[in-house]
Amino acid sequence: MKLDGRRLSNNVVDKRGSHTGRNIGIGGGIVGVVVAAVITLLSGGNMGDVVNQVIQSNFTYADNYQPTAEDERLAELSSKVLAGTEDVWTEEFRKQGWGEYQPPKLVLFNGSVNSGCGHATSQTGPFYCSADQTVYLDLAFFREMQSQIGASGDFAYAYVIAHEVGHHVQYLLGTLQEAHNRMGRMSAADANKMSVRLELQADYYAGVWAHRDNEMFNSLEPGDVENAINAASKIGDDYLQRKATGRVNPETFNHGTSAQRTRWLQKGVNTGDPLQGDTFSPSYTSL
Ligand SMILES: [Zn+2]
Repeated sequence: MKLDGRRLSNNVVDKRGSHTGRNIGIGGGIVGVVVAAVITLLSGGNMGDVVNQVIQSNFTYADNYQPTAEDERLAELSSKVLAGTEDVWTEEFRKQGWGEYQPPKLVLFNGSVNSGCGHATSQTGPFYCSADQTVYLDLAFFREMQSQIGASGDFAYAYVIAHEVGHHVQYLLGTLQEAHNRMGRMSAADANKMSVRLELQADYYAGVWAHRDNEMFNSLEPGDVENAINAASKIGDDYLQRKATGRVNPETFNHGTSAQRTRWLQKGVNTGDPLQGDTFSPSYTSL
């Protein structure tokens, strides 16, 4: 992904190294924590990446934080990608008559953070909190994507951010609240299906962003889309459950299968059209 010369976002809040003051973790814990994050976030457990309320937490790891050169590179990449989502969605909202796009904040943290949705740790994985319209990201997640599931490349990382921004777009359009209201009245199994629809649409919006960003900035390089597709395929519920437990339990899927995630991401990349991302009307089995 070509990001040279791209502007930085004004909406990044860098909280790396700040101290949130709970249960200080001990050295050596970070790897375990983040491995747990990848597994928890991606294995189709109960925790999605759209968070509404206080998150269970018992780990803080922010003392003596020293960013590596790679951390700094990833922080800059994240800021440029966020700026790209601002440019794309500002134009798209105007074009579609959806009003003025209000961009989300991106909080970079390490270890743990106090969010508008409560105290969160790296175990949560990257997430979007609608209460403060903010994406939360521990850059260690990108390292773990690489080492734990073999998903790497700058565009794969960009896809993760664009997916979270996709949830923000859902929030601005009212889709997120409506889905969550309906989920509150559903059985757990049906709520999981609704969650899958939300997640697949966020993947689709990530793809739309990639298409439009490339039109605006010529940002895509050969292999980029494949990298993101590889990442999407390895964070499918089925893939991660099989990897974690050797079995697959579709009732607990809440992000979608590898095939579904790659299909909707690819469709967004192909069309660049936010209007073709209706993941709510099709029957569940045809998603
Ligand atoms: Zn999501």
